[in-house]
Amino acid sequence: MITVTTVIENVFCPKFTYYGMVMGIKQYEEKRGTVMSGRRHHNVAEKTNTSYVPKNLRGRKITSVKMYSKKYDLVGIVDECIVTSDEIVIIERKHAKQQHIHDSVTVQIGLLALLLEENFGKPVKSAYVIFAKDHNRNEIAVSVDQTMKNYALAMLDETKKIINTTVMPDSSYDSRCVNCCYRKICDVGSLNTT
Ligand code: SF4
Repeated sequence: MITVTTVIENVFCPKFTYYGMVMGIKQYEEKRGTVMSGRRHHNVAEKTNTSYVPKNLRGRKITSVKMYSKKYDLVGIVDECIVTSDEIVIIERKHAKQQHIHDSVTVQIGLLALLLEENFGKPVKSAYVIFAKDHNRNEIAVSVDQTMKNYALAMLDETKKIINTTVMPDSSYDSRCVNCCYRKICDVGSLNTT
């Protein structure tokens, strides 16, 4: 069973999947970057802000729910969502100042939506992404449609393909490599970073 986090890391870089899931090389403790800082932010938010519900939403708040999908062979944790009478709305917090939704967040929300729909039997049509850092806060409403879900499923398939075929995928050097935990052993990262 593949985790949502594994798929998000594959969006970050497909070689990440290869080193972690095929070679079985553990991520170093000092790993930095958006994935880990985001997790820390989740943990703080879960303890301090569990009652937050976006304006104009009425429903039951659910936090830290772990879900499985037999259909997609997938497991993931939804940190926060609101279950209304006719839909489920995802709340995703990011420890960042950015104002737009990156691919990794699109895939994360798409996969979480599929897990929620399968487990709760209600549609997920929207999500709120809350960017917060250094007293800056920006809340973005995101439409969750079939295009988003199809893209998330394509990334899930790509991740499974790397794991099942064990063929090392291609990638190229860019700013991601600077803080990547695999940079010292990666054929791309090791040639370009110290
Ligand atoms: S060093 Fe760069 S290419 Fe290598 S796994 Fe990390 S992000 Fe990917």
